[in-house]
Amino acid sequence: SRRVREDIASLGPLSVGIGGKGVLVNGVQMEDGPHWKVMEPSLAYGTTETIDYLKRAITSVNRQFPDTHEMLVGHLSAKRGGHLRSHKSHQSGRDVDLSYYYLPDSRWRWYQRAHAGNLDVARTWAFVRSLLVETDVMFIFINTSIQRLLKKHALALGEDPEWLDDVFEWDSKSSWPIIRHSPGHDTHIHVRFYNPVAQEMGRRAYGTLVASGRIKPPTFYTYYKVKKGDILGRVAKKFDVSVRDIQKANGLRSTTIMAGKTYRIPRKGHVMQPGKIRIPPRRLPPSTSAATQVAAPDSR
Ligand SMILES: [Zn+2]
Repeated sequence: SRRVREDIASLGPLSVGIGGKGVLVNGVQMEDGPHWKVMEPSLAYGTTETIDYLKRAITSVNRQFPDTHEMLVGHLSAKRGGHLRSHKSHQSGRDVDLSYYYLPDSRWRWYQRAHAGNLDVARTWAFVRSLLVETDVMFIFINTSIQRLLKKHALALGEDPEWLDDVFEWDSKSSWPIIRHSPGHDTHIHVRFYNPVAQEMGRRAYGTLVASGRIKPPTFYTYYKVKKGDILGRVAKKFDVSVRDIQKANGLRSTTIMAGKTYRIPRKGHVMQPGKIRIPPRRLPPSTSAATQVAAPDSR
């Protein structure tokens, strides 16, 4: 906690809070690489772990298929994380939007809707497989229509059917699929990673970050001294909260407020302290589990 107060930069990236109510501390900017292009660098901040996982999975596709177009990397998080326009998550450096791989002759652009006619199923599957096997992926949002193409391709390659049923949502009864449908994810892939290091550091630093005012807890208060002529409805509007919330926070039974008196205004905070960080073991296909277990200790 002393290092959080005095030398926070020395701690490396911290993923604080949860995906939808979090911040990123000491974020790292992802830069263009040999096989990928970053679409909006100012919104391409993540943790070291997230960026390394991405590079690893993209590079793995290019190793298998040397002639592959660049992966387009969309938003990760803002420099300090927190709310990112038009996204529900992308707040703590562990989320990223990515292009699909498209067939060489198909004319495509960023956010092109992928379908059987233009999707490069082999390369996209190679990418998804690498995420599953070589990274701590938490989930991957891919439309059902595309899951179907990928899973059939994987089965045709001889991948283990039980493993595929476990990781895909499409045509399976998996209780916790990693590859899930979410509307709109036929134009891009959304990936969220577990970050064993950055999440644990974020959890440990949370209390000190709140105490020092660097982050706000989920609910916090602003104090407002009522001026002559103020009415409760207008005060509520000014702070973007409901009349009811102000009444509750101050034990008011009516909407009467008094000039000169100070009231507590409850504000929506940003950062939720997660519970204990638990990173589940990677869910590996039976054929690769032996090889990957050997590599696991230093990569975790
Ligand atoms: Zn996204």
